[in-house]
Amino acid sequence: MKKIFPILISVFLMHCVTMVGQTDYTEQREQMVKWQLQGRDITDLATLAAMLNVPRHKFVPEKMMANAYTDGPLPIGNGQTISQPYIVAFMTQALHLNSKDRVLEIGTGSGYQAAVLAKIVDSVYTMEIVEDLAITARERLKDLGFANVVVTWGDGYHGLPDKAPFDAIMVTAGADSIPQPLIDQLKIGGHMIIPVGPHHGIRQLVLITKKKNKIVKKDLMSVRFVPFTRAQKPNKD
Ligand code: SAH
Repeated sequence: MKKIFPILISVFLMHCVTMVGQTDYTEQREQMVKWQLQGRDITDLATLAAMLNVPRHKFVPEKMMANAYTDGPLPIGNGQTISQPYIVAFMTQALHLNSKDRVLEIGTGSGYQAAVLAKIVDSVYTMEIVEDLAITARERLKDLGFANVVVTWGDGYHGLPDKAPFDAIMVTAGADSIPQPLIDQLKIGGHMIIPVGPHHGIRQLVLITKKKNKIVKKDLMSVRFVPFTRAQKPNKD
């Protein structure tokens, strides 16, 4: 009994630490949704539910985990960032998604935005130009059980013509102009959201609606995003 007692105590303590850790992140996530999203203008129930359910702390580097639910963007390595939770929710809500949709995201980064989309729609195709990020995000999404997300390594300028047309397209890197191939790959009636503006400057988050004979553009807000870059070589999977 003398020997087993300290073991029992340490097992109990380890259990407590795990429980506290889990409760903590769930609570932080609830607070994030309540104050950062509902406290602003996020009202779409599917978006709020997705943000409540995706474990954002699992999409940031280990040393950033404690800050995963703060009201801002965070570095994810390779000079890239995971967007502020509010921006993720705002862009998701703006697309007016439904459960049958096929969505294309350009700029996988950590995979967090793709995971949020995947909770709402039927399937998500996401493209990332930095190979390391594409591989890490693909593994992470698989480990977390997101079976309806396909990560492709390549220059998102070209989109995925083989999988087009898409009900909605989201670009999460700041572009100088709107890539024509992405407009071509959008369904009639579909929406695309993209930050557009001068390189390294403040850009406009633009919502594009594709009509039969024209596209309608609406400026939603000013934002800062890491730049949309271009590949020197053709796409690879
Ligand atoms: N959506 C991400 C954050 C995006 S950061 C998340 O939830 O974590 C922008 C990402 O776009 C970066 O990872 C950057 O490498 C990528 N990117 C930039 N230009 C690109 C392009 N032409 N095609 C695909 N990805 C691109």
